[in-house]
Amino acid sequence: MPLLKSRIITRTAVPCQTPTWQAMLAEAITDVAELLATLDLTPAQLKNPVTHPDFPLRVPRGFVARMEKGNAVDPLLLQVLPGAAEACVTPGYHADPVADQDAMVIPGVLHKYQGRVLLIATGACAIHCRYCFRQHFPYQEANAARAQWQQAVTYIGQQPQLHEVILSGGDPLMLGDHKLQELVLQLAAIPHVRRLRIHSRLPIVVPQRITPALIQVLTGTRLQTLMVLHCNHPNEIDAEVQQALQTMQRAGITLLNQAVLLHGINHLPQTQRRLSETLFHSGVLPYYLHMLDQVQGAAHFEVPESAALELMQQLQASLPGYLVPRLVREIPGAPAKVPVV
Ligand SMILES: *Cc1c(COP(=O)(O)O)cnc(C)c1O
Ligand code: SF4
Repeated sequence: MPLLKSRIITRTAVPCQTPTWQAMLAEAITDVAELLATLDLTPAQLKNPVTHPDFPLRVPRGFVARMEKGNAVDPLLLQVLPGAAEACVTPGYHADPVADQDAMVIPGVLHKYQGRVLLIATGACAIHCRYCFRQHFPYQEANAARAQWQQAVTYIGQQPQLHEVILSGGDPLMLGDHKLQELVLQLAAIPHVRRLRIHSRLPIVVPQRITPALIQVLTGTRLQTLMVLHCNHPNEIDAEVQQALQTMQRAGITLLNQAVLLHGINHLPQTQRRLSETLFHSGVLPYYLHMLDQVQGAAHFEVPESAALELMQQLQASLPGYLVPRLVREIPGAPAKVPVV
């Protein structure tokens, strides 16, 4: 009896289940003062933090936990903290710098490049990245997930040259498993579609999103699955992220990373080297390093082209070729991302 009793007590004493990814999204920090207090920072230590009503602070607590306390220029903090520099109107910076709205063939479907099509699955994101080029995008009208993906699936079905469907956003993994499943099954039923590609930052910011059920949705059909992650700094990868990435890799998902070249965050060669090494250690290959899109409010993150080219030379001279990302820029009307050389 004592044994049984102690077992019962132990079981009821188990604190609570690990929070679900939905709970972690709901509990994200949206208040600047709370974020600063969590990091032991005072407003006086920062360069003019401001609130930004249209694109407010949003950062999950797990991501905040990877920031260094007391460091006002922490590279993860600078990616999410709204600052006064965002109010600067810079000539040459636009609301839609990559002319996405011209490439929209039907609501939420961007067909710019040959052989592949990009679906805007949702406008929602787990985190608000201050340099994001989609921050002024009209997601309400442009959402391929409406009406069970019907229009998008019909369009893809009529284009036999489309072999790859890219889910982007916002962050497509903000959608629930059921909504994703609906699409994956419909795509797998189109004979000319071979590959499903997901562009997501969620495995980095909320690794708990990578559940067995999600893996089953993504790998349960004949389609080959790729995931292009978005990670800018090696400190974004902690043990939990690493585990989520390894889980996906073992499930047969090809993992690539795209980063944005950001002044003050990852413009130094040692940071880029550590990023590539850390990614590869978790089964991820670097894919693209994007020059900043000239979106209004992000000019303070810009790295000039000459400095970017010098950085690439230093990376090429010190890393194996497969750990050097391709430096690219998006140019409206170009048939692909344009290499910067
Ligand atoms: C970036 C992008 C792609 C993917 O380009 P890849 O070079 O294949 O990675 C596809 N469609 C659109 C609209 C894009 O912006
Ligand atoms: S997660 Fe991606 S789409 Fe969302 S704000 Fe960040 S960069 Fe933009």
